[in-house]
Amino acid sequence: KAKERGRNQYQFFNAEMRDQVRNRTELEQALRLALQNNEFELYYQPIINTRNGKVESVESLVRWSHPERGIVSPADFIPMAEETGLIQPLGLWVFEHACQQMQAWCELGLTELSVAINISSSQRHLGFNAAAAQALITKTGVNPNKLIIEITESMFLDGSEEAITWLNELKSLGVMLAIDDFGTGYSSLSYLKRFPIDKLKIDRAFVSDLPDDEDDASLVKAIIAMSHSMGLTLVAEGVENYEQLDYLKGLECDLIQGYLYSKPVPADQLPDVIRALEDPARKDAAEAYNFI
Ligand code: C2E
Ligand code: MG
Ligand code: MG
Ligand code: MG
Repeated sequence: KAKERGRNQYQFFNAEMRDQVRNRTELEQALRLALQNNEFELYYQPIINTRNGKVESVESLVRWSHPERGIVSPADFIPMAEETGLIQPLGLWVFEHACQQMQAWCELGLTELSVAINISSSQRHLGFNAAAAQALITKTGVNPNKLIIEITESMFLDGSEEAITWLNELKSLGVMLAIDDFGTGYSSLSYLKRFPIDKLKIDRAFVSDLPDDEDDASLVKAIIAMSHSMGLTLVAEGVENYEQLDYLKGLECDLIQGYLYSKPVPADQLPDVIRALEDPARKDAAEAYNFI
């Protein structure tokens, strides 16, 4: 009896595995087609300067507008794109479109704005580098000082000579560099001194329970104080309420990104969103958010 059940379990497991493989193959195939059919789109989320209330930059966040499934979040396809290597062509598409959009906004008069672009560590391993970035900067005509390249902390932890050279070469194009999701990778700030970094983004995980969670509060306090002493600009990710905002402002956090101000929006909505967020008559952030 046990043997029988064992065999059935084995078969069940097998069928499940087969389905998973089929789903993965289907997803991979669908991703390839999506690239060909231009189904990707960039959304942009405003990042607000706490000192003057201006939208200093926007983060580009890729979306897949699937003909049947609608808008698919990057969490559902970036890992697969990384595993299959499709992140390489997708990453080039993202980089080019973010540059092109930034250049278009400059021409529209949004000359103070910068755009942040996410680059995953697998892109480095697949050949994305300063030469590739320079080619797209030249092609789109964007000023590289309008670009912020966001790299997750894990890439710095690797700490190899190759990684450092890769970063230095990117930096020498004239772009800014930011460490994304800071705090999740357990690296010390003094370690980060070796890298040509401009900004640090505190991960949402450390922001969501502010100010009540005392551990998070003291951690965020320490990160902000130390990075300021190192000349870095601080961005808090995932700010959703006024308690968090006021606390972070009190610690002189430089920049705020989160649903409190705005969710990521399609490019054509951004000028209106910026106008609303920067409107001096606006009573609070939520009013601008509701505007969308
Ligand atoms: P990330 O780079 O850390 O981006 C911030 C994420 O937090 C975005 O999720 C954004 O929508 C979300 N977020 C911002 N404010 C709030 C908030 O107040 N509350 C909550 N709950 N969430 C907030 P999104 O767009 O789903 O992207 C997820 C991740 O996918 C990104 O995390 C990034 O790691 C990756 N990703 C997105 N676009 C790209 C891309 O073009 N290239 C690469 N390589 N990765 C990308
Ligand atoms: Mg990011
Ligand atoms: Mg992040
Ligand atoms: Mg993140």
